[in-house]
Amino acid sequence: MLVVKKFGGSSVANAERVMNVARIVTDTYREGHDVVVVVSAQGDTTDDLIEKAKEINPKGSKREMDMLLAAGEQISIALLAMAIENMGFPVISLLGWQAGFQTNSTYSSARIKRVNPERIRAALDKRKIVVVAGFQGLNRYEDVTTLGRGGSDTSAVAIAAAMHADLCQIYTDVEGVYTADPRKVPDARKLQEITYDEMLELATLGAQVLNNRSVEMAKKYGVELEVLSSMKAVPGTKVKEVAKMEEMLIKGVAKDTNVARVMIVGLPDEPGIAFKIFSRVAKAHINVDIILQSVGRDGTKDITFTVPQDKGDEAVAALQEYCDMVGAKSLSYDTSVAKVSVVGAGMETHEGTASLMFEALAAANVNIQMISTSEIKVSVLIAAEDADRAVSAVHKAFFEA
Ligand code: ADP
Ligand code: ASP
Ligand code: MG
Repeated sequence: MLVVKKFGGSSVANAERVMNVARIVTDTYREGHDVVVVVSAQGDTTDDLIEKAKEINPKGSKREMDMLLAAGEQISIALLAMAIENMGFPVISLLGWQAGFQTNSTYSSARIKRVNPERIRAALDKRKIVVVAGFQGLNRYEDVTTLGRGGSDTSAVAIAAAMHADLCQIYTDVEGVYTADPRKVPDARKLQEITYDEMLELATLGAQVLNNRSVEMAKKYGVELEVLSSMKAVPGTKVKEVAKMEEMLIKGVAKDTNVARVMIVGLPDEPGIAFKIFSRVAKAHINVDIILQSVGRDGTKDITFTVPQDKGDEAVAALQEYCDMVGAKSLSYDTSVAKVSVVGAGMETHEGTASLMFEALAAANVNIQMISTSEIKVSVLIAAEDADRAVSAVHKAFFEA
């Protein structure tokens, strides 16, 4: 059997944890399996490197940032390989490019174009344990790229897909995927299973336990994932196509504070306005999420929408000239907002999900600014200061009743 195991930053944070990972890996190897291990940078290394860069040049180019950040994973693979050597097992560590990761050239959030696993395959054929640096690859200019924060999950899934692995295990600092962040909501429950679509929504809506791109890729290539603890040997959560075991209306509650609300008041109430607004936002490469347009009154209307938090000023900059030209009353953005969402395929066939969520928010005295829904999620935009209270209240309504 070919097993891909990925260990996040906290799982390799210090010498003791690295040796713990070496034990988990070699246990599987000893059972006769081929093992590829993907690791992240130790603990807060990536954040520390970002801080170091800021001290020298807060506007450093993305190319050099990638060069810097890729170093974190290089440390981890060498240390883990040494720990495995020390236990007497054959092992080799490989950087992203050595492991065959080819990416596009979008520095700091590169996409994997393909993985050429020949070198990994050759090492496995020699019965070596292969330790691969997550989060990184090489573009066509032979520059090092990184995949964006949390990108090691995607590295693991990409190897599992390219090599048709039998198992892809994502080890982390919690025991699996929970109905809410178990560090914030003590009553959160561990899920046995969750579908790709549900996990993709949860990850996109703020549950960082899995990177959303990794889930997207796992779904595309049919890689079944298991999320489990590196500290405690208990069953984790399976992420797969069909999850039928638990008949639950919703699978989880997520919070995303990386959001800004852009508001334009007093736009002319005539055809083409939304197009003119959002084509400018798109041209600036800004992702728009929730959109709300008011009903026209006295010849004017308002448009409000959300963007990633660090794009608020860029969105306003992209729209200023146009808003001045058409005589809009005001254009502004607000970053003190958060998005709270409930996710679950069960809501496709059961009515009342949204109203139960709104009831819980009302009882907690949380004001809703915007609402957005899809088949399997309901999201609300609220004041950032209400977010934790809102998550607890909503979680309680769905899971602690
Ligand atoms: P790693 O370093 O292993 O990649 P991350 O910090 O990226 O770990 O992700 C694990 C964290 O995700 C947990 O410590 C937990 O606080 C957080 N988290 C948020 N939402 C959830 C959820 N629904 N289920 C489990 N963990 C969650
Ligand atoms: N080290 C990178 C980060 O902190 C990648 C990862 O951990 O997945 O974002
Ligand atoms: Mg992570």
